Amino acid sequence: MDYGTHTSSEQWGVKTIVPTNPNVVLVESWYKYEKEQSDADQINNLYAAECNREPHELSTSDICFLDYNKGNVYFLRLRLILLATAVAAVAASPAMPLAAKAMYNPDLFQGDIKGIAGQEPGHERAAILGPQYLWSGGVVPYVFGSSITSHQRDIILQGMNDFHAKTCVRFVERTTQHDYIEIVSNDSGCWSYVGSIGGKQRVSLDVNGCIYVGTAIHELMHAIGFYHEHCRNDRDNYVTIHYENVMAGLESQFDKDSYYQYVGEGYNYASIMHYGTYAFSIQWGVKKTIIPTDPNVVLVEAYDKYEMEQSDANQINNLYAAECARRH
Ligand SMILES: [Zn+2]
Repeated sequence: MDYGTHTSSEQWGVKTIVPTNPNVVLVESWYKYEKEQSDADQINNLYAAECNREPHELSTSDICFLDYNKGNVYFLRLRLILLATAVAAVAASPAMPLAAKAMYNPDLFQGDIKGIAGQEPGHERAAILGPQYLWSGGVVPYVFGSSITSHQRDIILQGMNDFHAKTCVRFVERTTQHDYIEIVSNDSGCWSYVGSIGGKQRVSLDVNGCIYVGTAIHELMHAIGFYHEHCRNDRDNYVTIHYENVMAGLESQFDKDSYYQYVGEGYNYASIMHYGTYAFSIQWGVKKTIIPTDPNVVLVEAYDKYEMEQSDANQINNLYAAECARRH
């Protein structure tokens, strides 16, 4: 029954409740699928005396309801409700959110990577790229496609501002630069190329499911040369991939990065580049595909985040140190 990190914040995305345990990520109630056992225990404790007032036998897992229409008190067997709920849950598991559908494209490398600078399609190997694929001077010229509305632009600019606040990389409106990104909202899905591929390259933030600050940051971080946190070569120390729950034929979406270039930060579950726990699941909300080794960790989808982690920013600054230095 805890509220999420951004509860009643004047600016959504600015944290108001920060857990003392740094491994804990607060999750809004609408992203949860059941109440905690501790919540249930508290209900039972609070209602123990009331539930036991009725002469007929009630177990402590029952809860009593007042029927105002009939003017008398009667008891509903909560266990029956729970059973019915369980049956219903199996029959109709939570629908996959559009924001997830847009991110987890089965036909793209790791779900949302269109292509990789300097590598042949179909032979992409995840690695932070060589310096030749970095944006010159740490500057990324951009244009918005005609499909981008002012509302969408505001969201995307918020994402860019996160880079400006924490890293040396700068997104600037394109004037005459040869290499630049074009951000569009009328293509299918959320995706980007990884690194500067030369000339114009697209970043797709589909109006259907991608217009979120977190998604914009995630895709822009691909564009400057980063892959996914959960595909890091050392990820098996931190997460278990449950292939039995992965949609058939999509197991390769979880291939580890064989040539991952270490850029100075350890694994971070909360990285903006980490996928959620139901990525490519055969049953969204039920069958987990990525399970953290640390049981206190709750994975949060990129679209539910509002900023990159400090570790993300540090890696960007490390990777771009030489490029940014050239700018000064
Ligand atoms: Zn991605």
